[in-house]
Amino acid sequence: MIENRLYNFNPGPAVLPEDVLLEARANLLNYRGSGIGIMEMSHRSKDFEAIISEAEADLRALLGIPEEYSVLFTTGGGSTQFSMVPMNLLRPNTTANFILTGVWAEAAYEEAKKFGRTHVAATSKEEKYRRIPTECLLSENCAYLHFTSNNTIVGSQFRTEPACDAPELVCDASSDFLSRRIDVRKYGLIYSGAQKNFGPAGVTLVIMKTALLERCPDSLPLMLDYRTYAKNKSLYNTPPVFAIYVCGLVFRWLRQRGGLDVIEKQNRQKADILYTLLDSTKFYEPFVSPESRSTMNVTFRISNRELEQPFLKEAEAAGLIGLKGHRLLGGLRASIYNACPLEGVEALAAFMREFEKKRG
Ligand SMILES: *Cc1c(COP(=O)(O)O)cnc(C)c1O
Repeated sequence: MIENRLYNFNPGPAVLPEDVLLEARANLLNYRGSGIGIMEMSHRSKDFEAIISEAEADLRALLGIPEEYSVLFTTGGGSTQFSMVPMNLLRPNTTANFILTGVWAEAAYEEAKKFGRTHVAATSKEEKYRRIPTECLLSENCAYLHFTSNNTIVGSQFRTEPACDAPELVCDASSDFLSRRIDVRKYGLIYSGAQKNFGPAGVTLVIMKTALLERCPDSLPLMLDYRTYAKNKSLYNTPPVFAIYVCGLVFRWLRQRGGLDVIEKQNRQKADILYTLLDSTKFYEPFVSPESRSTMNVTFRISNRELEQPFLKEAEAAGLIGLKGHRLLGGLRASIYNACPLEGVEALAAFMREFEKKRG
Protein backbone atom coordinates (compact mmCIF):
# COMPACT_ATOMS: atom_id res chain seq x y z
CA MET A 1 0.00 0.00 0.00
CA ILE A 2 1.16 3.53 -0.78
CA GLU A 3 0.63 5.94 2.09
CA ASN A 4 -1.44 9.12 1.92
CA ARG A 5 -2.98 8.43 -1.45
CA LEU A 6 -6.08 10.41 -2.36
CA TYR A 7 -8.98 9.24 -4.48
CA ASN A 8 -8.03 10.75 -7.82
CA PHE A 9 -10.80 11.55 -10.32
CA ASN A 10 -8.60 13.49 -12.75
CA PRO A 11 -9.48 13.06 -16.44
CA GLY A 12 -5.88 12.53 -17.57
CA PRO A 13 -3.14 12.01 -16.74
CA ALA A 14 -5.09 9.86 -14.37
CA VAL A 15 -4.92 7.28 -11.63
CA LEU A 16 -2.74 4.19 -12.19
CA PRO A 17 -2.96 0.88 -10.30
CA GLU A 18 -0.98 0.87 -7.05
CA ASP A 19 0.60 -2.49 -7.81
CA VAL A 20 1.91 -1.08 -11.08
CA LEU A 21 3.36 2.02 -9.41
CA LEU A 22 5.11 -0.06 -6.77
CA GLU A 23 6.67 -2.38 -9.32
CA ALA A 24 7.70 0.57 -11.50
CA ARG A 25 9.31 2.22 -8.49
CA ALA A 26 11.49 -0.79 -7.79
CA ASN A 27 12.58 -1.10 -11.41
CA LEU A 28 13.12 2.63 -11.75
CA LEU A 29 16.09 2.24 -9.40
CA ASN A 30 17.41 -1.12 -10.50
CA TYR A 31 15.73 -3.02 -13.32
CA ARG A 32 15.46 -6.65 -12.23
CA GLY A 33 18.89 -6.59 -10.62
CA SER A 34 20.65 -5.34 -13.77
CA GLY A 35 22.28 -2.51 -11.81
CA ILE A 36 20.66 0.27 -13.86
CA GLY A 37 17.15 1.71 -13.83
CA ILE A 38 14.51 1.30 -16.50
CA MET A 39 14.84 4.93 -17.67
CA GLU A 40 18.59 4.56 -18.12
CA MET A 41 18.77 1.56 -20.41
CA SER A 42 19.20 1.45 -24.16
CA HIS A 43 16.09 0.97 -26.23
CA ARG A 44 18.21 -1.48 -28.26
CA SER A 45 19.00 -3.63 -25.20
CA LYS A 46 17.76 -7.19 -24.78
CA ASP A 47 15.87 -6.09 -21.68
CA PHE A 48 13.91 -3.42 -23.51
CA GLU A 49 13.27 -5.62 -26.51
CA ALA A 50 11.68 -8.10 -24.11
CA ILE A 51 9.65 -5.30 -22.47
CA ILE A 52 8.14 -4.00 -25.71
CA SER A 53 7.45 -7.41 -27.20
CA GLU A 54 5.83 -8.66 -23.99
CA ALA A 55 3.72 -5.51 -23.84
CA GLU A 56 2.53 -6.16 -27.38
CA ALA A 57 1.88 -9.85 -26.70
CA ASP A 58 -0.14 -9.06 -23.55
CA LEU A 59 -2.13 -6.42 -25.42
CA ARG A 60 -2.85 -8.82 -28.27
CA ALA A 61 -4.00 -11.46 -25.79
CA LEU A 62 -6.18 -9.01 -23.84
CA LEU A 63 -8.02 -7.63 -26.86
CA GLY A 64 -7.77 -10.64 -29.15
CA ILE A 65 -5.99 -8.61 -31.82
CA PRO A 66 -5.91 -10.66 -35.05
CA GLU A 67 -2.57 -11.34 -36.72
CA GLU A 68 -3.40 -9.19 -39.71
CA TYR A 69 -3.37 -6.11 -37.49
CA SER A 70 -0.25 -4.13 -36.56
CA VAL A 71 0.34 -2.69 -33.11
CA LEU A 72 2.31 0.56 -33.19
CA PHE A 73 3.76 2.47 -30.22
CA THR A 74 3.85 6.09 -31.35
CA THR A 75 4.15 9.49 -29.66
CA GLY A 76 2.42 12.84 -29.91
CA GLY A 77 -0.82 11.88 -28.19
CA GLY A 78 -4.28 11.47 -29.64
CA SER A 79 -3.87 14.95 -31.12
CA THR A 80 -1.09 13.84 -33.49
CA GLN A 81 -3.37 11.04 -34.71
CA PHE A 82 -5.89 13.70 -35.72
CA SER A 83 -3.33 14.59 -38.43
CA MET A 84 -1.69 11.22 -39.05
CA VAL A 85 -4.91 9.40 -39.85
CA PRO A 86 -5.89 11.64 -42.79
CA MET A 87 -2.26 12.07 -43.92
CA ASN A 88 -1.89 8.30 -44.20
CA LEU A 89 -5.36 7.06 -45.10
CA LEU A 90 -7.17 9.81 -46.99
CA ARG A 91 -6.45 9.60 -50.72
CA PRO A 92 -7.44 12.17 -53.36
CA ASN A 93 -11.03 11.63 -54.57
CA THR A 94 -12.03 10.02 -51.29
CA THR A 95 -13.73 11.62 -48.30
CA ALA A 96 -13.09 11.28 -44.58
CA ASN A 97 -16.40 10.94 -42.73
CA PHE A 98 -16.90 12.05 -39.14
CA ILE A 99 -19.40 11.58 -36.35
CA LEU A 100 -19.27 14.69 -34.19
CA THR A 101 -19.97 13.92 -30.56
CA GLY A 102 -17.89 16.50 -28.75
CA VAL A 103 -14.81 18.68 -28.59
CA TRP A 104 -12.27 15.97 -29.45
CA ALA A 105 -14.28 14.70 -32.40
CA GLU A 106 -14.53 18.27 -33.68
CA ALA A 107 -10.77 18.69 -33.32
CA ALA A 108 -10.12 15.53 -35.36
CA TYR A 109 -12.54 16.77 -38.03
CA GLU A 110 -10.99 20.25 -38.23
CA GLU A 111 -7.53 18.75 -38.61
CA ALA A 112 -8.59 16.36 -41.37
CA LYS A 113 -9.91 19.29 -43.42
CA LYS A 114 -6.30 20.34 -43.97
CA PHE A 115 -5.51 17.11 -45.79
CA GLY A 116 -8.48 16.41 -48.02
CA ARG A 117 -12.22 16.13 -48.35
CA THR A 118 -14.36 15.71 -45.26
CA HIS A 119 -18.01 15.11 -44.49
CA VAL A 120 -20.05 15.16 -41.29
CA ALA A 121 -21.99 11.89 -41.28
CA ALA A 122 -23.74 12.60 -37.99
CA THR A 123 -23.66 15.18 -35.22
CA SER A 124 -25.46 15.93 -31.98
CA LYS A 125 -24.00 19.40 -31.63
CA GLU A 126 -27.41 21.04 -31.64
CA GLU A 127 -28.27 19.09 -28.53
CA LYS A 128 -25.00 20.19 -26.89
CA TYR A 129 -23.70 16.67 -27.43
CA ARG A 130 -25.92 15.31 -24.67
CA ARG A 131 -26.47 12.11 -26.64
CA ILE A 132 -24.75 9.88 -29.17
CA PRO A 133 -26.41 10.20 -32.61
CA THR A 134 -28.16 7.03 -33.76
CA GLU A 135 -28.39 7.61 -37.48
CA CYS A 136 -25.51 8.31 -39.80
CA LEU A 137 -25.30 9.34 -43.45
CA LEU A 138 -22.08 8.59 -45.31
CA SER A 139 -20.75 10.59 -48.26
CA GLU A 140 -19.83 9.09 -51.60
CA ASN A 141 -16.33 7.61 -51.89
CA CYS A 142 -16.01 7.41 -48.15
CA ALA A 143 -12.40 6.58 -47.17
CA TYR A 144 -13.25 5.89 -43.55
CA LEU A 145 -15.65 6.87 -40.80
CA HIS A 146 -14.01 8.45 -37.75
CA PHE A 147 -15.76 8.37 -34.37
CA THR A 148 -14.80 9.02 -30.77
CA SER A 149 -15.83 6.02 -28.68
CA ASN A 150 -15.83 7.94 -25.40
CA ASN A 151 -16.27 11.67 -25.09
CA THR A 152 -14.09 12.62 -22.17
CA ILE A 153 -15.37 16.18 -21.77
CA VAL A 154 -19.16 15.75 -22.15
CA GLY A 155 -19.21 12.27 -20.64
CA SER A 156 -20.91 10.30 -23.40
CA GLN A 157 -19.93 6.96 -24.91
CA PHE A 158 -20.90 4.76 -27.85
CA ARG A 159 -22.45 1.51 -26.55
CA THR A 160 -21.38 -0.27 -29.75
CA GLU A 161 -19.78 0.74 -33.02
CA PRO A 162 -21.81 3.19 -35.13
CA ALA A 163 -24.39 1.35 -37.21
CA CYS A 164 -23.49 2.26 -40.76
CA ASP A 165 -21.65 0.58 -43.55
CA ALA A 166 -18.37 2.46 -43.63
CA PRO A 167 -15.57 0.86 -45.64
CA GLU A 168 -13.27 1.36 -42.63
CA LEU A 169 -13.97 2.43 -39.08
CA VAL A 170 -11.38 4.67 -37.42
CA CYS A 171 -11.80 5.13 -33.69
CA ASP A 172 -10.35 7.64 -31.26
CA ALA A 173 -10.47 5.47 -28.13
CA SER A 174 -8.29 7.81 -26.06
CA SER A 175 -10.44 7.65 -22.95
CA ASP A 176 -11.99 4.19 -22.95
CA PHE A 177 -9.40 1.94 -24.56
CA LEU A 178 -9.24 -1.36 -22.61
CA SER A 179 -12.28 -0.43 -20.50
CA ARG A 180 -14.28 -3.19 -22.23
CA ARG A 181 -14.02 -5.85 -24.88
CA ILE A 182 -14.30 -4.75 -28.50
CA ASP A 183 -14.12 -6.77 -31.69
CA VAL A 184 -10.99 -5.39 -33.34
CA ARG A 185 -12.02 -6.93 -36.69
CA LYS A 186 -14.72 -4.28 -37.01
CA TYR A 187 -12.07 -1.56 -37.14
CA GLY A 188 -9.59 -0.31 -39.69
CA LEU A 189 -7.65 1.68 -37.10
CA ILE A 190 -7.96 2.39 -33.37
CA TYR A 191 -5.80 4.93 -31.56
CA SER A 192 -5.41 6.01 -27.99
CA GLY A 193 -3.04 8.06 -25.88
CA ALA A 194 -2.05 6.08 -22.79
CA GLN A 195 -2.54 8.71 -20.12
CA LYS A 196 -6.24 8.25 -19.48
CA ASN A 197 -6.93 4.58 -19.11
CA PHE A 198 -3.70 2.59 -19.33
CA GLY A 199 -0.44 4.36 -18.69
CA PRO A 200 1.62 7.52 -18.36
CA ALA A 201 1.59 10.34 -20.93
CA GLY A 202 4.08 9.99 -23.77
CA VAL A 203 3.02 6.90 -25.65
CA THR A 204 0.10 6.59 -28.09
CA LEU A 205 -1.09 3.21 -29.27
CA VAL A 206 -2.24 2.61 -32.82
CA ILE A 207 -3.80 -0.68 -33.83
CA MET A 208 -4.37 -0.91 -37.56
CA LYS A 209 -5.15 -3.36 -40.31
CA THR A 210 -1.74 -3.99 -41.79
CA ALA A 211 -3.23 -3.90 -45.30
CA LEU A 212 -4.10 -0.22 -44.83
CA LEU A 213 -0.39 0.61 -44.86
CA GLU A 214 -0.60 0.32 -48.64
CA ARG A 215 -2.49 3.59 -48.69
CA CYS A 216 0.31 5.61 -47.09
CA PRO A 217 1.79 8.08 -49.59
CA ASP A 218 5.57 8.20 -50.01
CA SER A 219 5.65 11.96 -49.53
CA LEU A 220 5.00 11.79 -45.79
CA PRO A 221 7.57 12.87 -43.21
CA LEU A 222 9.19 9.73 -41.88
CA MET A 223 7.93 10.09 -38.32
CA LEU A 224 4.37 10.75 -39.48
CA ASP A 225 4.25 7.68 -41.72
CA TYR A 226 2.69 4.60 -40.09
CA ARG A 227 5.02 2.39 -42.15
CA THR A 228 8.04 3.69 -40.24
CA TYR A 229 6.59 2.26 -37.02
CA ALA A 230 5.32 -0.94 -38.60
CA LYS A 231 8.58 -1.81 -40.39
CA ASN A 232 10.77 -1.10 -37.37
CA LYS A 233 8.62 -2.60 -34.60
CA SER A 234 8.15 0.95 -33.26
CA LEU A 235 11.93 1.22 -32.77
CA TYR A 236 12.96 3.39 -35.70
CA ASN A 237 13.99 6.10 -33.24
CA THR A 238 14.06 6.22 -29.43
CA PRO A 239 10.57 5.42 -28.18
CA PRO A 240 9.24 6.60 -24.81
CA VAL A 241 10.90 3.72 -23.00
CA PHE A 242 9.52 4.31 -19.53
CA ALA A 243 5.95 4.98 -20.69
CA ILE A 244 5.92 1.78 -22.76
CA TYR A 245 7.28 -0.15 -19.79
CA VAL A 246 4.49 1.09 -17.51
CA CYS A 247 1.83 0.34 -20.16
CA GLY A 248 3.19 -3.21 -20.27
CA LEU A 249 2.74 -3.48 -16.50
CA VAL A 250 -0.84 -2.26 -16.83
CA PHE A 251 -1.59 -4.82 -19.56
CA ARG A 252 -0.26 -7.56 -17.31
CA TRP A 253 -2.24 -6.18 -14.35
CA LEU A 254 -5.41 -6.34 -16.48
CA ARG A 255 -4.70 -9.93 -17.48
CA GLN A 256 -4.05 -10.93 -13.88
CA ARG A 257 -7.34 -9.37 -12.82
CA GLY A 258 -9.24 -11.52 -15.28
CA GLY A 259 -9.10 -9.50 -18.48
CA LEU A 260 -11.51 -7.13 -20.16
CA ASP A 261 -14.78 -8.89 -19.34
CA VAL A 262 -14.03 -8.58 -15.64
CA ILE A 263 -12.88 -4.96 -15.84
CA GLU A 264 -15.94 -4.07 -17.95
CA LYS A 265 -18.24 -5.43 -15.27
CA GLN A 266 -16.42 -3.45 -12.60
CA ASN A 267 -16.57 -0.29 -14.70
CA ARG A 268 -20.32 -0.78 -15.18
CA GLN A 269 -20.79 -1.29 -11.45
CA LYS A 270 -18.83 1.86 -10.56
CA ALA A 271 -20.69 3.99 -13.11
CA ASP A 272 -24.09 2.64 -11.98
CA ILE A 273 -23.42 3.74 -8.40
CA LEU A 274 -22.97 7.34 -9.52
CA TYR A 275 -25.73 7.49 -12.15
CA THR A 276 -28.25 5.87 -9.78
CA LEU A 277 -27.44 8.54 -7.22
CA LEU A 278 -27.68 11.35 -9.80
CA ASP A 279 -31.05 10.10 -11.04
CA SER A 280 -32.48 9.77 -7.55
CA THR A 281 -32.53 13.48 -6.75
CA LYS A 282 -33.20 16.92 -8.21
CA PHE A 283 -30.25 18.32 -6.29
CA TYR A 284 -27.81 16.98 -8.90
CA GLU A 285 -28.27 17.07 -12.70
CA PRO A 286 -26.53 14.48 -14.88
CA PHE A 287 -25.44 16.06 -18.17
CA VAL A 288 -25.90 13.19 -20.65
CA SER A 289 -29.11 11.35 -21.57
CA PRO A 290 -29.27 7.88 -20.02
CA GLU A 291 -28.66 5.74 -23.14
CA SER A 292 -25.48 7.65 -24.04
CA ARG A 293 -23.76 7.91 -20.67
CA SER A 294 -20.10 7.09 -20.27
CA THR A 295 -18.75 4.51 -17.84
CA MET A 296 -15.48 6.46 -17.76
CA ASN A 297 -16.40 10.13 -17.25
CA VAL A 298 -19.50 10.95 -15.23
CA THR A 299 -20.53 14.58 -15.82
CA PHE A 300 -23.07 16.47 -13.74
CA ARG A 301 -24.03 19.80 -12.30
CA ILE A 302 -25.59 20.93 -9.06
CA SER A 303 -29.00 22.51 -9.73
CA ASN A 304 -27.95 25.42 -7.57
CA ARG A 305 -24.76 26.32 -9.50
CA GLU A 306 -23.47 28.36 -6.59
CA LEU A 307 -22.90 25.16 -4.67
CA GLU A 308 -20.38 23.78 -7.20
CA GLN A 309 -17.39 25.66 -5.81
CA PRO A 310 -18.11 24.64 -2.21
CA PHE A 311 -18.65 21.07 -3.46
CA LEU A 312 -15.18 20.98 -5.00
CA LYS A 313 -13.57 22.51 -1.94
CA GLU A 314 -15.22 20.16 0.51
CA ALA A 315 -14.59 17.14 -1.69
CA GLU A 316 -10.91 18.00 -1.75
CA ALA A 317 -10.85 18.35 2.00
CA ALA A 318 -12.39 14.86 2.14
CA GLY A 319 -9.58 13.45 -0.05
CA LEU A 320 -11.54 13.35 -3.33
CA ILE A 321 -9.68 15.29 -6.01
CA GLY A 322 -9.95 16.08 -9.73
CA LEU A 323 -13.73 16.59 -9.81
CA LYS A 324 -13.85 19.92 -11.63
CA GLY A 325 -15.56 19.75 -15.02
CA HIS A 326 -13.71 20.70 -18.22
CA ARG A 327 -13.38 24.46 -18.63
CA LEU A 328 -15.49 24.36 -21.82
CA LEU A 329 -18.42 22.66 -20.12
CA GLY A 330 -18.17 23.74 -16.49
CA GLY A 331 -19.83 21.77 -13.75
CA LEU A 332 -18.43 18.60 -12.28
CA ARG A 333 -16.91 15.42 -13.64
CA ALA A 334 -15.77 12.21 -12.02
CA SER A 335 -13.35 10.25 -14.20
CA ILE A 336 -13.50 6.67 -13.02
CA TYR A 337 -11.09 4.79 -15.27
CA ASN A 338 -10.02 1.15 -14.85
CA ALA A 339 -7.57 1.94 -12.05
CA CYS A 340 -10.07 3.96 -10.00
CA PRO A 341 -11.01 1.61 -7.17
CA LEU A 342 -14.61 0.77 -6.28
CA GLU A 343 -13.94 2.17 -2.79
CA GLY A 344 -13.10 5.53 -4.36
CA VAL A 345 -16.45 5.64 -6.13
CA GLU A 346 -18.26 4.57 -2.97
CA ALA A 347 -16.47 7.30 -1.02
CA LEU A 348 -17.51 9.86 -3.65
CA ALA A 349 -21.14 8.67 -3.55
CA ALA A 350 -21.18 8.89 0.25
CA PHE A 351 -19.72 12.39 0.07
CA MET A 352 -22.35 13.45 -2.50
CA ARG A 353 -25.22 12.17 -0.38
CA GLU A 354 -23.84 13.92 2.69
CA PHE A 355 -23.30 17.18 0.75
CA GLU A 356 -26.91 17.09 -0.44
CA LYS A 357 -28.17 16.45 3.07
CA LYS A 358 -26.25 19.45 4.39
CA ARG A 359 -26.96 21.88 1.54
CA GLY A 360 -30.10 20.55 -0.13
C1 LIG B 1 -7.50 13.52 -24.21
C2 LIG B 1 -8.10 13.18 -25.50
C3 LIG B 1 -7.49 13.49 -26.72
C4 LIG B 1 -6.21 14.28 -26.80
O1 LIG B 1 -5.18 13.50 -26.37
P1 LIG B 1 -3.67 14.02 -26.25
O2 LIG B 1 -2.99 12.72 -25.95
O3 LIG B 1 -3.64 15.01 -25.14
O4 LIG B 1 -3.28 14.59 -27.55
C5 LIG B 1 -8.09 13.08 -27.88
N1 LIG B 1 -9.25 12.40 -27.87
C6 LIG B 1 -9.87 12.09 -26.71
C7 LIG B 1 -11.17 11.33 -26.76
C8 LIG B 1 -9.32 12.47 -25.50
O5 LIG B 1 -9.94 12.16 -24.36
